[in-house]
Amino acid sequence: MLSPQRVPMSGLPMSVTIWEVGPRDGLQNESTTVPVGVKLEFLDRLAAAGLGVVEATSFVHPRWVPQLADAEDLLARLAPAPGVRYPVLVPNDRGLDRALALGVREIAIFGSATETFAKRNLNRTIDESLAMFEPVVRRARAEGLRVRGYLSMCFGDPWEGEVPIPQVVSVARRLVGLGCDQLSLGDTVGVGTPGHVTALVRALSEAGVGPDRLAVHFHDTYGQALANTLAALQSGVTTVDSSAGGLGGCPYAKSATGNLATEDLVWQLHGLGIETGVDLAALVRTSLWMAQRLGRQSPSAVVRALAAEVVSP
Ligand code: MG
Repeated sequence: MLSPQRVPMSGLPMSVTIWEVGPRDGLQNESTTVPVGVKLEFLDRLAAAGLGVVEATSFVHPRWVPQLADAEDLLARLAPAPGVRYPVLVPNDRGLDRALALGVREIAIFGSATETFAKRNLNRTIDESLAMFEPVVRRARAEGLRVRGYLSMCFGDPWEGEVPIPQVVSVARRLVGLGCDQLSLGDTVGVGTPGHVTALVRALSEAGVGPDRLAVHFHDTYGQALANTLAALQSGVTTVDSSAGGLGGCPYAKSATGNLATEDLVWQLHGLGIETGVDLAALVRTSLWMAQRLGRQSPSAVVRALAAEVVSP
């Protein structure tokens, strides 16, 4: 059985945009670095499987993310599929220069809802990181680019523990104030639960950041990603981040699952009768192929369940 029985549920969106993060967030968190040729084939296969937004790479300094040190080469050689968007992560002004030189039309910046993670990940306070992003977003918008703001640690922080909703709302409003078109709410450690998702989306909406401006980025470390996704959809969110095959382990819990797998998400959405445009069999074949290149099995339940049913990659 390659697809679930379609039984719609009331109160959900008609269609959902899947924001595929495997090539960036997935591969940057894998211990194995794959060659640029494999990445290019991966991007092509994801687009061919029907994914309309594929975050391609990152211009973070190679010292911090050696897995994506080939960002320039990758983008120069990428043959964009018609109608597919290829956003890239840009940390600062210099990263934006590199992205613009390669004709990038859409960028993402990576902020934190907590001071500890801002310090550890960006070596800056929240205020300092927003000051770093301000000219990047302003210049990107002036160049006509779309800008997404990632907001990590929205549901819990490994060093600080609980993260108060008003604190997340405060940083979210400041990112929107800088000019971000969309915010992606990250459960970076995977500890959130559905009521928390509902409460955060409601609080953001009351603060003027409606669900049409939001995406959700869940990690499945504690097995909550799909339940949290359903809560987000019920709250009106229509963009969901996921990673093909569940690529990218959890950097804060060794041997634990990280990103929500795109296949698991697609199974649920199709079962709910929500359009995604994704060919699930083609996507599973892609993840099996990538798992071979990484020398390990995909952590995705759907990939494992369908592995025998799809033709070998
Ligand atoms: Mg992630």
